[in-house]
Amino acid sequence: MRYCLFAILVFHNPKAFSPQADSIPPSVQRLLDAYPDHLEAYQDNYIRWKDGSLMQYDDGRFKTEEEAFDSTDLEDQMNALSYPPGLPVDTPGYNCDPGTLRCQEFFMKMYGNTEAAAKSHLVPVTWLAPKAGQTKRIWVTSINGVNEHLQAVAQELVAYPHLRPYVTNIGGTFNWRPIMGTQRMSPHSFGIAIDLNTRRSEYWKWDHKDNWQLDSVEINLKWRNSVPLEIVEIFERHGFIWGGKWFHYDTMHFEYRPEMLPDQKRRNVGKPTRRPAIGKKKG
Ligand SMILES: [Zn+2]
Repeated sequence: MRYCLFAILVFHNPKAFSPQADSIPPSVQRLLDAYPDHLEAYQDNYIRWKDGSLMQYDDGRFKTEEEAFDSTDLEDQMNALSYPPGLPVDTPGYNCDPGTLRCQEFFMKMYGNTEAAAKSHLVPVTWLAPKAGQTKRIWVTSINGVNEHLQAVAQELVAYPHLRPYVTNIGGTFNWRPIMGTQRMSPHSFGIAIDLNTRRSEYWKWDHKDNWQLDSVEINLKWRNSVPLEIVEIFERHGFIWGGKWFHYDTMHFEYRPEMLPDQKRRNVGKPTRRPAIGKKKG
């Protein structure tokens, strides 16, 4: 049982967020602000997309932990747990994995509901190679400018040679697949996620290969991380959340989720910082 999430579900009363026709709850506004290319309005518990279609915000159901993960609505996605932006990074609370409740219908509509559809939006980003001055191409979606945001991350990272071992030889970006051991599509399926160097990072399921299906207490799950936090700061400034802020740690993993980082989005997303061009040899 993931007590942290469960507690939130118990104490969250969906009725408390019942929208008035003329008022937009803050969590809904955050969602609208995060995806201005796609979402245009909210009324009477429905989000209106720019193509005119409507998506229910809150299904009004009380859910167990498993149900919350398997049938996440937008309200669950926005209100379950807040992602703590910035530094310092505290050890996540027991079973707290903010950002891992994802409304699958929402992501599939936005980024593609089949492998072919998601693939059709992929574009290259020039990424860092192990050797300074060299580059490689990686592929992410162009929707919501994710490629531009990731390119801005690369342009910042290249200025820090000591971070290079962590961000080169990456684990991957686009991969149409379910999350290991579940039926839910991984954010990698939508071209919005990147895994850094797997040899320099940690994933709780790899640390507990034989027994990860058991309760966190039974496997004595203990958070750990070796990814430098400077990397986290850079990614967050460009709209990506980090899997190292989850009790069920996945410290190689970053995914574009601007709705979880509203302040960062307002300040920085869409405004690549001026840094040396990637690949340019420094000093
Ligand atoms: Zn990942």
